[in-house]
Amino acid sequence: MARYVLPDLEYDFGALEPHISGQIMELHHGKHHRAYVEKANQTLEQLDEARHRKDFSRIAGLEKSLAFNLSGHVLHSIFWKNMKPHGGDRPSGELARAIERDFGGFEAFKAQLTQVAATIMGSGWGALVYEPIAQRLLTCQIYDHQSNLSQGGVTLLVIDAWEHAYYLQYRNQKTEFFDAVWNTWNWDDVEARFQAARKLNLVVPHAAEAVKAA
Ligand code: MN
Repeated sequence: MARYVLPDLEYDFGALEPHISGQIMELHHGKHHRAYVEKANQTLEQLDEARHRKDFSRIAGLEKSLAFNLSGHVLHSIFWKNMKPHGGDRPSGELARAIERDFGGFEAFKAQLTQVAATIMGSGWGALVYEPIAQRLLTCQIYDHQSNLSQGGVTLLVIDAWEHAYYLQYRNQKTEFFDAVWNTWNWDDVEARFQAARKLNLVVPHAAEAVKAA
């Protein structure tokens, strides 16, 4: 049976400084992300046991645990790839044109996604997603790791808005972190996700019938 594994970072823990400290990256990747991977695997084992015992009395809790921990694994895996040393700047090409079309420009998009992250009540993520029915970009405010996500949306870019993502460095000044993270973006990675998402017509095979051109 396949098991989830913690992916290595493609850069050193300190490589995103001064925007994100090496201490945060080491804890965030090695402790927080690792815990989601381990708990996702544990939950799958517990689901296997329940099936073998034919005892589904804890199924609702196990499903909730699986959604939380597996989504934590997925989002952190995307987040690490969304960033790179000396990143930032702006997207180009088709992603840039889609942002222009769907948000009215890069600065407007940046302001919207930053506010999506900054106004989360409790723990969550700000996300840029590709919505396959309208074939457009949307922002999404994800609670915990899994709630409030529009179904079928493909996550392209995420901002971790949990306190563990910034508190050691930015304390209660979280908006400084949500500004700083824009200096780390790897737009080539986001563009690659965008191009892959546009090919995913499997999600809604009759998408053209479910949306009307404005
Ligand atoms: Mn996190």
